[in-house]
Amino acid sequence: MRKPFVLIAVLAVLALNVNGQSLDAMIDRDISSWLTTYKNLHTTPELSHREEKTASFVAGELRKLGFTVTERIGKYQNEQWTGYGIVGVLKNGPGPTVLVRTELDALPVEEKTGLPYSSNVKTKNDAGLEVGVMHACGHDIHMTSFLGTAKMLTELKSRWSGTLVMLGQPAEETGDGANAMLRDNLYGNIPKPDFAIALHDKPELETGKVGYTPGYAMASATSIDIKIRGIGGHGSAPELAKDPIVVAAQVVMALQTIVSRENSPLDPAVVTVGSIHGGTRYNIIPDEVNLQLTVRTYKEEVRKRVLASIERIVKGVVATAGIPEDRAPVIKIAEGTGSTYNEPKLVDRLVVAFKQALGDDNVVQMPPMMASEDFGYFSLDHTIPATIFWLGASDPAKVKQSRDSGVPLPGLHSALFAPVPEPTLRTGVKAMTSAVLELMKK
Ligand SMILES: [Zn+2]
Ligand SMILES: [Zn+2]
Repeated sequence: MRKPFVLIAVLAVLALNVNGQSLDAMIDRDISSWLTTYKNLHTTPELSHREEKTASFVAGELRKLGFTVTERIGKYQNEQWTGYGIVGVLKNGPGPTVLVRTELDALPVEEKTGLPYSSNVKTKNDAGLEVGVMHACGHDIHMTSFLGTAKMLTELKSRWSGTLVMLGQPAEETGDGANAMLRDNLYGNIPKPDFAIALHDKPELETGKVGYTPGYAMASATSIDIKIRGIGGHGSAPELAKDPIVVAAQVVMALQTIVSRENSPLDPAVVTVGSIHGGTRYNIIPDEVNLQLTVRTYKEEVRKRVLASIERIVKGVVATAGIPEDRAPVIKIAEGTGSTYNEPKLVDRLVVAFKQALGDDNVVQMPPMMASEDFGYFSLDHTIPATIFWLGASDPAKVKQSRDSGVPLPGLHSALFAPVPEPTLRTGVKAMTSAVLELMKK
């Protein structure tokens, strides 16, 4: 029993080395052109809902590689916006359909990295204010890794069988792009995937490494507007008014009991009041106070319960203050983002592939977080196994320095966020290519 096992193991290692080297050699050959692509994308960022040029560039590159490309996918609730989603399909025999997703959009952030390829783009946002535009979340890294992966897989067609779906999603930062594509009958028009995968760069992780988080990895995010209406009056005569500022203060405090007293400590949840506005001057009791909240949870049933608790508490505190029925509070729950659940069996398979491609030490498990992302929608409520994995983007020496000193590196969405392009792209392409090959190998 022993000898054949050892022989098979040796052969397997040899085969992997050969494959690993050939992929490395292909990456060596193409890296300089990917760096050019990356820098071009970095200097021409576009805001969410406006990714017209970015989408058409990515679509064009896929078309050159032989993909059948569909553009302008996506229907937003705001009909003034165009859906700039794109999909490239490459059929290569029988087998599973694997969807690989990249985002296309950038952020209203004025870049301050001082890099020679910094973005100088300025535009007017939806409110008419001039804003800088920057790929401060690294979606340019994702697009370049995505295109590199598409190229590798077209050249390695003899090693896989199935249907490859390369999807460029708009409006990830605003949380409505994935839903807009699905609402536009995405899975009716393209082969419905058996697996969906994505990567996201991570400044806290060293270049050369990837991270994975099985199970719930990112939270759902729900935005809530609350208008607390009172009865305004003179600041010297509270007996003639119903003061919404005091009611709002009580509401803010009472909301803290949802997570601390109503929710299981084993089900993570966050209720944050991020904005509170009311009143104009010292001696006027205002008519209303406006609050803006974000709610984060992993499980949908927890989200529903927290939202119901918020409504109950707001109405209850308002009633206790004696505010009449016709001045009842107005609570608006906006379209949110679902949680991201990394299907554990799929994660296990990809971890094996990553370790073979990158080495055991370069594949690390990472804790979940309460940030959010709309990639999870492509899994249709967890019915399609999906996973997002983390891509190391920072110089290892700087990561060590940051861990030793406790001073964090510039994070995602920071004007100073600066992934190290070459090693990040190499690992991004290698990891994503290996992941797809694992799922579609012959
Ligand atoms: Zn982001
Ligand atoms: Zn992002």
